[in-house]
Amino acid sequence: MRELRKLGYWTAFYPVTQVSNLSNLKDPIPRMKKSGVYKIQCSCGDRYVGQSGRTFAKRFREHELIFDKLMKSIPTDSTSAVARHCYDEGHPFDHVKLSELHQCTSGRKLNRLEEYYTLLAVQGSSHSNYNILNDVDSVFVSHFIRFMLDYSTSIQSVTRSNL
Ligand SMILES: [Zn+2]
Repeated sequence: MRELRKLGYWTAFYPVTQVSNLSNLKDPIPRMKKSGVYKIQCSCGDRYVGQSGRTFAKRFREHELIFDKLMKSIPTDSTSAVARHCYDEGHPFDHVKLSELHQCTSGRKLNRLEEYYTLLAVQGSSHSNYNILNDVDSVFVSHFIRFMLDYSTSIQSVTRSNL
């Protein structure tokens, strides 16, 4: 208690609704104004895991602009696997959703987190009905993760028929 008071906290009982508001006070920046690792999902379920050192909102806008350029046949140096997917498959970009996976500002951490979340998505896709739009080879620079991916695809399962 004394420690808390030293830090400037007042201890008191709050109704539950007020306590849940405390998290908003601690975190006044709207989520899409943050940077980190995100997932973009098409209406068909296919998804892309990416990182952004700038805000999620800005990064999403970039994907959108690339899509618009593809639609208007305007050449662009930038690439977006999501924009390319929607363009190629004829899926509407209006239904594409970005969600935050992990907030982070440090560049080195971002790379690690991107690897981690892409790996999770790749694993998820192997027993679900969606594809990962990432160029997986370019994400997994870590030898360990490469090893684990190769390992997991080489695992054979045993069933009655192949015993
Ligand atoms: Zn799609």
